[in-house]
Amino acid sequence: MTSSGQPKNADILIHDAMVLTMDEERRFFENGSVAVSGDEILDVGPAEELEGNYQARRTIDGRNKILMPGLVNVHTHAPMNIYRGAADDLPLREWLYDHIFPLEAAFSSKLENLKAGLRLAIAEMLLSGTTMFKDMYFFTDELAAVVAETGMRAMLSEAVFDNATPSNGGGDKTLDYIDATIRNWQQHPLVRQGVAAHAAYTVSPELIVKAKDLARKHDTMFSIHLSENQWEVDTIRAMYGVTPVKHLENLGVLDRQTLAIHCVILSDEDIAILANTHTGVAHSPQCNMKLANGAAPVPDLLKKGVHVGVGTDGVASNNDLDMFDEIRSMSLLHKLTSNSTTVLNAREAIEMATITGAKAIGYDDRIGSLEKGKKADMIMLNLDKPHSKPFYNVYSSLVYSLRSSDVETVIVNGEVLVDQRQLQRMDLSAVYEDIERVAQEISAFQRRKQAR
Ligand SMILES: [Zn+2]
Repeated sequence: MTSSGQPKNADILIHDAMVLTMDEERRFFENGSVAVSGDEILDVGPAEELEGNYQARRTIDGRNKILMPGLVNVHTHAPMNIYRGAADDLPLREWLYDHIFPLEAAFSSKLENLKAGLRLAIAEMLLSGTTMFKDMYFFTDELAAVVAETGMRAMLSEAVFDNATPSNGGGDKTLDYIDATIRNWQQHPLVRQGVAAHAAYTVSPELIVKAKDLARKHDTMFSIHLSENQWEVDTIRAMYGVTPVKHLENLGVLDRQTLAIHCVILSDEDIAILANTHTGVAHSPQCNMKLANGAAPVPDLLKKGVHVGVGTDGVASNNDLDMFDEIRSMSLLHKLTSNSTTVLNAREAIEMATITGAKAIGYDDRIGSLEKGKKADMIMLNLDKPHSKPFYNVYSSLVYSLRSSDVETVIVNGEVLVDQRQLQRMDLSAVYEDIERVAQEISAFQRRKQAR
């Protein structure tokens, strides 16, 4: 009880759950409770300590369930969900130039298509336990409104290219669009805007610097695909005489508000540069495997103190946005390629998907762990399944045997968005109807192309 003896008001009290906090001490309460008021976590602790202290509008029974921070997906291209499965198992250049780019030229300039893909992506992410995603695509001003409707947390980043993009003229025109977009969304509680440059081989050095300057002006994140494969490293070396990481260091754009996406091919010097500049890294193991790019030196990056988060990347190269699936693959991949069973253990995998991911994108002051004063973004998984029994270790269970379909409850910013595996704000049948319309157009396009 409180000192006055009067219970305090709370909006939600989740009680008697196994609470994995991911706070600084990584506290785990075998029988714990979390109280939420408005958009914030009011209290976290042993169930018997919180019991009677709070008078909650809504109570949720957490028995035989794991309550943990919502997963942070640090790299997606969510509207690209319309292209899931449209082109697979092809040589990299053919996949990109003969399939993905023509599809984007035909379908990504129509906003309705992207809205359909984005809604599908958000439904998929929420139902698989992701509460925050950092996206890179086009039309970020218009699409932010779609995210806001769903109640999910996101940072959208419009991608700058030298050339025109589906949303605008490219180069300085894109920067003007981003400048206005950031201002439009500055005050929103859930959706923020960053700045992205696609990659060092599609964006000139001058434009990369301008894009980073714009991000600095607004005190927001800058992100860029970096050192994704050997072809990129060879190309940048031929153009600028250095590795892609060194090239960006020379441009002065690496710092703790920059997210470097992929970082598969890195020299020891590259790793030192990323560590010394405090650049965040997004790791997308399934995409790297599917495109046969290699295994990023994640254990070495972690050893040097680099904040490495996990991103699924877009479904064109994954083909889903399932973070539980991603971290299991990640943990297995690095054990295999480093020939060591102790590399990337289950606890590190969960850290990367929660608090370390939040650090990589500059969100750790508000999400990534269950702590008093942080935003109430959390998920609860049901352990009442054959594949989850018996239960000995929370990290092992989460990484090696539980599945995203075990996620039962999802709370973002204090609002229950998934209850008993049902989306509370989104109408899934309308989402499917929209996506079916786009899919039929894409199928017809593919058939016409094949007939040619
Ligand atoms: Zn990407």
